[in-house]
Amino acid sequence: MRRSALAVAAVALLLGAVIGIAALASSTTTPSEPRTVNAASSSPSVTGCRYRSRATSVRHGPSGRKRIALTFDDGPSGFTSRMLDVLEAERVPATFFVVGRNVAGREALLERMLADGHMIGNHSFNHVNLAKADRAALKQIDDTQAAIESATGFTPCLIRPPFGLASRELLRALSARRLTSTLWSVNPQDFRTPGSATIRRRVLAGAKPGAIILDHDGGGDRRQTLAAIPSIIRTLKSRGYAFVTVPELLGLSVKR
Ligand code: ZN
Repeated sequence: MRRSALAVAAVALLLGAVIGIAALASSTTTPSEPRTVNAASSSPSVTGCRYRSRATSVRHGPSGRKRIALTFDDGPSGFTSRMLDVLEAERVPATFFVVGRNVAGREALLERMLADGHMIGNHSFNHVNLAKADRAALKQIDDTQAAIESATGFTPCLIRPPFGLASRELLRALSARRLTSTLWSVNPQDFRTPGSATIRRRVLAGAKPGAIILDHDGGGDRRQTLAAIPSIIRTLKSRGYAFVTVPELLGLSVKR
């Protein structure tokens, strides 16, 4: 999210209430054990993840277990490789919502995400407001799916509408594309570079079972986020949390 999102943030919240944005009900599937990152024994053989047929937008997962999903938006960028190194060192999976225009030339980063056990979601092609769900917006979605598919062979089942802006029309269009709109429950506003200590404090204050945490690996200088993440992970682990991808948090199985 960028600064230009500020004016629309309140609208997004109101809109969310109006269109009934809600978390998925507690998962009825049997959740698998949280996966740890193991680049050595995995390969980018995942081809997609399953859609759950609901025209809703998810803000968090079921709260019954101490599981948390880290998410990173606006990449891939020059900071993504270091973020992947941090996650690999901490052995936790995350979910990357990528901007389609950033994929060309950084295909290897997307392949590494999947090989490392992370998941990839759609974040539009040019980081634009999709809420109108007009032809241009749908092209943003489809072009990004195509960019990710062509780079990796993986078809995302998640999309994060830029600025958190959705609409009934957009959710219908996403439903038709078997994409689940994925927002967040914790936003430390790392994109405003408030300092790594502040990012850490905000994330830890908001962390709850089922939380989806919004961070950024692109869209600007992400050194503060990079500095904050290891301590966030270690603290939450010490509090008994396991880290999972968003599909895992929501009980959406992965296709291989
Ligand atoms: Zn964004």
